[in-house]
Amino acid sequence: MLRLSGKPVFGGIARGRLFYFQPDENEVTKRLIKDTALELERYGYAKDKALAELDELYTTALEKIGENEAGIFLIHKMLIEDEAFASQIHRRIADDHFSADYAVAQTARDLAHAFSKNSSEYIKSRSADLKDVCDRLIRHIQNKAEKRIELKEKVILCADDLMPSETMQIDLSNVLAIVTCYGSSNSHTAILARTMNIPAIIGIGAEKLSMLRDMEAIVNGYDGDLLIDPDEETIRTINRIEEEEAKKRELLKRFKGRRNITLDGTEIQVYANIAGLNDLNYALENDCGGIGLYRSEFLYLGRSNMPEEDEQFFNYRQVLERIGGKRVVIRTMDAGADKNIKYFGLAKEENPALGVRSIRLCLMRPEMFKTQLRALLRASVYGNLALMLPLITDVNEIRQAKKLIEEAKEQLRARNLPYREDVPVGIMIETPAAVILSDELAKESDFFSIGTNDLEQYVLAFDRQNLMLESYFEGRSHKALLKFIGMTCDNAHKNGIPVSICGELGADLTLTEDFLRLGVDALSVTPSQILPLRQHIRTLRLEERRQLAGARAGI
Ligand code: PEP
Ligand code: MG
Repeated sequence: MLRLSGKPVFGGIARGRLFYFQPDENEVTKRLIKDTALELERYGYAKDKALAELDELYTTALEKIGENEAGIFLIHKMLIEDEAFASQIHRRIADDHFSADYAVAQTARDLAHAFSKNSSEYIKSRSADLKDVCDRLIRHIQNKAEKRIELKEKVILCADDLMPSETMQIDLSNVLAIVTCYGSSNSHTAILARTMNIPAIIGIGAEKLSMLRDMEAIVNGYDGDLLIDPDEETIRTINRIEEEEAKKRELLKRFKGRRNITLDGTEIQVYANIAGLNDLNYALENDCGGIGLYRSEFLYLGRSNMPEEDEQFFNYRQVLERIGGKRVVIRTMDAGADKNIKYFGLAKEENPALGVRSIRLCLMRPEMFKTQLRALLRASVYGNLALMLPLITDVNEIRQAKKLIEEAKEQLRARNLPYREDVPVGIMIETPAAVILSDELAKESDFFSIGTNDLEQYVLAFDRQNLMLESYFEGRSHKALLKFIGMTCDNAHKNGIPVSICGELGADLTLTEDFLRLGVDALSVTPSQILPLRQHIRTLRLEERRQLAGARAGI
């Protein structure tokens, strides 16, 4: 038996076959060739193959997803057939004697640069299409087959790392467990696994997994162990763990329908974090008090074009209707950093976590933002909706966003579409700037929700994607963070607005008492963490709310 240990991200046991996923990366090296005619022929052949493939993709997409979505493949065809594009490649092969794949790669690079400088949002968003088209051409020049991740049976999905966009392309109903070599427990793929109840382990170690294709294994998501070819003794232990965990889950069910109330009578709202409609089932199963964070950007991920206003409207409306009048906080699109959306065509950045992401991106692309705002406002008449703006750093961002909300309302009025005038607008506290300015920001906000995943990374200068730093900080007190949270609560309450925590730390039972004593009014967590949190809250006594937490945080 072989045991590989990593960091547990979501508990659960899974037994099955390992499936190793390796994303396609074209390797192109600079090569000079003598026979330019032959090279032009290779390019011509690749072009024909790519066009035929796109025709096929268009026909299939037309049947499966409709004309709008399928149109992307026609755009890809137009790019390949574009005169200027083709002649640049020709020139590089015929005059510069570059190999065909290198000529395509260089032409794509120049064009992508030109696209990123263009003032039109439409042109900018075509960079990702350009990359797709060139990858397709290069693949045919190099005579490589296209790799698609189609899971035909249930497997344990293994990868060096997984990006949220990759995770979204996979049929997760066929994923028994996720195991990665790298990654961090605050990464969005880990968060997604947790939200979807998929046992997951990260940080199993560099390049070990790639050697373990197609083997039978057990994932122990409680301890973070991947067990390959397990012996009898290990199987017995795993069975025992599974039985004990099932008993615990059964006992937790007793807490359904109960209030999250401390021994001395303080009621704390516990909401669910979701990333899409599927997760709503888990949220409801676990008796959530509502949705405290709907990560709406996942609607934009794992696809090749922007979701239209109507598609978004139906999605948000379903969440509101299915939750039956309980509060639903939908966070406006929070893309960028690890949630990279290819078709946005964002320029490559040195530090994407400090770059064009989140509210910044939305304010830079007001038309795109207003499409989402219109969809949200239209959905507002179907339930108890609140909007939440991420990564706020100053009051002007809130004012600009509110101005766009007003413009979106104006557009809906012109179309005679109903919306609720009084939809609350809150903000996420995720930056040190937002904490320092929280008194001022509270005057412009209906509520605060603390995103500890980002706040922690910006306060402690600690990249949330970096597993090594995660181990470095593990077990240390979150003293600085607690001070920031205390200050946020004080300023929120001074201005009469509530505060919740919706980052992963909100489910850390060792910190619940501190959070509540500091004045946090609500917690929003992964669905499976709702009942354990409820059980824990019901054992707490907060009479001396503040003093103890203040002392621990050094306030
Ligand atoms: C956070 O930063 O804590 C948060 C909830 O947002 P996300 O994890 O999606 O960045
Ligand atoms: Mg965040």
